[in-house]
Amino acid sequence: MPLYEYVCDDCEIRFEVLRPASRMDDRADCPRGHVSTRRVLSTFATMTRDEYADPEPVSGGCGGGCTNCACSVN
Ligand SMILES: [Zn+2]
Repeated sequence: MPLYEYVCDDCEIRFEVLRPASRMDDRADCPRGHVSTRRVLSTFATMTRDEYADPEPVSGGCGGGCTNCACSVN
């Protein structure tokens, strides 16, 4: 069963709910009792994107002159 993430419009906390995909857009009550919540994409996908936003430079140590190492790809 997939895990969905929701954010509360009142206190802005994020919480996760384990539920069937057929119910992913059903209302999910905030743990603090608020009912004004909305579903958000998981933070896992967001964090992965941030990690790739500033990648480490790849260098094969050859200055880009060879055709076999990763430094010639870009
Ligand atoms: Zn709340």
